[in-house]
Amino acid sequence: MTAPARTDRGSEELIRAEEPVLAHNYHPLPVVVARAEGAWVEDVEGRRYLDMLAGYSALNFGHRHPALIEAAHRQLDRLTLTSRAFHNDRLAGFAERLAALTGTDMVLPMNTGAEAVESGIKVARKWAYDVKGVPADRATIVVAADNFHGRTTTIVSFSTDETARCGFGPFTPGFRIVPYNDLAALEAAVDETTAAVLIEPIQGEAGVLIPDDGYLAGVRELTRRKGCLFVADEIQSGLGRTGHTLAVEHESVVPDVVLLGKALGGGIVPVSAVVGSREVLGVLHPGEHGSTFGGNPLAAAVGTAVVELLETGEFQRRAAELGAVLREGLAGLVGRGVVGFRARGLWAGVDVDPALGSGREISERLMREGILVKDTHGSTIRLAPPLTVTPEELAGALGTLEKVLTS
Ligand SMILES: *Cc1c(COP(=O)(O)O)cnc(C)c1O
Repeated sequence: MTAPARTDRGSEELIRAEEPVLAHNYHPLPVVVARAEGAWVEDVEGRRYLDMLAGYSALNFGHRHPALIEAAHRQLDRLTLTSRAFHNDRLAGFAERLAALTGTDMVLPMNTGAEAVESGIKVARKWAYDVKGVPADRATIVVAADNFHGRTTTIVSFSTDETARCGFGPFTPGFRIVPYNDLAALEAAVDETTAAVLIEPIQGEAGVLIPDDGYLAGVRELTRRKGCLFVADEIQSGLGRTGHTLAVEHESVVPDVVLLGKALGGGIVPVSAVVGSREVLGVLHPGEHGSTFGGNPLAAAVGTAVVELLETGEFQRRAAELGAVLREGLAGLVGRGVVGFRARGLWAGVDVDPALGSGREISERLMREGILVKDTHGSTIRLAPPLTVTPEELAGALGTLEKVLTS
C-alpha cells in the first residue's frame, strides 16, 4: 500500500455524504475503504482491517493479486472491448481453459452472477423444449427454499426471503420451491415438465448451510433418472473457496450446468459464466441470447489469469489446510460465545449467542478491533477470508473473535 489516499473528506463525512444521493439498498458497516492489498484493507484515516469477507468470495485471491493486476494492466494497454459483434483474441483461450478447469465442454460468458443465473435458466428452459420435448411455455425449474441466486425480477420470483421479494411483483412463473437438503421433497416436485433442479451446493446467504453427505450425489442421481438437468450455482462456493475447484467435487458430482461468477473476475472486473455440456449449451443459436460486455477482452484476460491461478491447485489446497485451522479455532469457541457453526474450506457461518448481540452488533465490534466480517440472518456471522490469508493472520482473526465474544 504505497500511494496515499486521495480524498479530502474523512470517513464520517463520506458516510454522511452518501445518505442523500445514494439509493439505500445496503446498510454497510461504517468503514470507508480507500486502499487494499492481499487480505488487508485500509480506511481513509489509515486504519487497517483484515478482510474476512473477501467480497463474498469475489476476492478469493485477495485484493490486487499481482498476477491478476498484471494481466489486467497488460490487457488495458492493448484492447478492452469489442462486443461480440466481432471476435477478440482473448476469448477462445479463456473458454478453453475454463472448460478444462471445470471439466466441461462449453462456456457462455456473462458479467454478473445474476446474469449467469438468468442465462442458466434460459438455457435449461430451451433445452427442455428443444431436447426433452416439454410443451411450449410449460417448463418448470425446481429450486430450494432459502436460496440466494441474485436480484433480478425473475430470480427474486423464486426467493423465499420476503425482504428480497416484497414490492417487486408480479413474479415470473415456472418455479417450484422445495426444502433444501430434502431429497424426498425434490423427488415429489420433479415431473415431466421439469427442465432443471437449480441449487447452491452450499447455501451461503442462508448462513453457510452445508447439506448432508449424499445430498448432492442424490440430486445428481435423481435428475439423471428423471431426465432433467442439474444446475449448480457455484457463484459463491466455487473457484477454490471450499478446498476444491467446485464445491460439488466434495461428492464427486458433475452437474450438467455450473454457474460461476464472483472470484472469476479476480476482484477486478465482473466476470461470470455458464459452463456445461455441449448437449445443453449447444441449444443456443445466434441472436437467442447475448450481452454487450460478456466475454470482453479485459474480462477474458483477467478470467484467464484466474483460471491459471486455480490450475496450480495451490489455492484449493490452502483453503483445505487453513479451513482445518478455522474449524479448530471455531470449535474452541463453542460454548464461549459461539452456539454452533458450519464450515467447509475457508468458509464458515458462525451462530453467535444472541445474548451477546445481533450479528450486526458483533460485526461492528469486530470492525472496531480491525476485522471485517458480514452478518447474515439473526446472530450469524459469515467468515470467508481471501484464500491467500496466512495462518498467522487467521489465528489473529480467531483471537480477536474470541476476545470480542468473551470479554
Ligand atoms: C452473489 C451470488 C449471486 C449473484 O451474483 P451477483 O454478481 O451479485 O449478481 C448468485 N448466486 C450466488 C450463490 C451468489 O452468492
